[in-house]
Amino acid sequence: MTRLILATRNTGKITELRAILTEAGLPHDLVGTDAFPDAPDVRETGVTFAENALLKAHTLARATGLPAVADDSGLCVDVLGGAPGIFSARWAGRHGDDKANLDLLLAQLADVPDEHRGAHFACAAALALPDGTERVVEGRLTGTLRREPAGTNGFGYDPILQPEGETRTCAELTPEEKNAISHRGKAFRALVPVVRELLG
Ligand code: IMP
Repeated sequence: MTRLILATRNTGKITELRAILTEAGLPHDLVGTDAFPDAPDVRETGVTFAENALLKAHTLARATGLPAVADDSGLCVDVLGGAPGIFSARWAGRHGDDKANLDLLLAQLADVPDEHRGAHFACAAALALPDGTERVVEGRLTGTLRREPAGTNGFGYDPILQPEGETRTCAELTPEEKNAISHRGKAFRALVPVVRELLG
């Protein structure tokens, strides 16, 4: 049985990765950061999702002596050259103020016509071993940005991203529907062969 740690206190993320590893037939004991109260907090000083995910995974692997998985994600808007990107959680200044972030972004895009409102959620998922071995994979959820928020599920920019081929926003999808197509779901699923290769 492989013991590994996921760099998060979010039980939703732990449940999602656990389900993906189970479905892939990988015996594992997955725990979150809460299982290691002394694990250090990591400053996300990287300039890409992959760098930040690797930073978090390496720090946790070193601190716990266990293989560690970490993810980093955000919204990338085509006409903004990929911004907010790694700044998604603090786009309006204060970390995690979802409503302010979303309102600011909508105001910035007010003059952008519908045909140029392409955007995607991106997620990098990294696996690091205590000996310094590392792998990183990425997943995307592509769509267009609405002019008004719609839906109450999810978090962050979910109420304004309408996935390709959908008539609803991410915040109007059920959690199961979103997990099936999400950037994080894709990145976690791309980790399966990596976990199999490195941890057996
Ligand atoms: P984190 O990597 O999970 O901390 O996410 C960083 C930020 O990106 C969040 O605070 C959100 O603003 C945005 N974000 C990442 N994934 C999603 C998503 O699935 N829906 C909506 N916003 C997201």
